[in-house]
Amino acid sequence: MTKCALCDEDVGNTPYNPMPEWKVKGPLCGKCYSSKLEEHYPGDHIRVNRLNEED
Ligand SMILES: [Zn+2]
Repeated sequence: MTKCALCDEDVGNTPYNPMPEWKVKGPLCGKCYSSKLEEHYPGDHIRVNRLNEED
């Protein structure tokens, strides 16, 4: 089982890798990943999953 580096919750089947500049060591759960995105890139439209590279 993998735990979120921030909230210590089980990340389940979808651990998110933090950006290097976040200075977070270890995977994040979706919730913490989202809040980190908001924190570091407010207003930006960053997609969590790059399923395609159309734009
Ligand atoms: Zn978390």
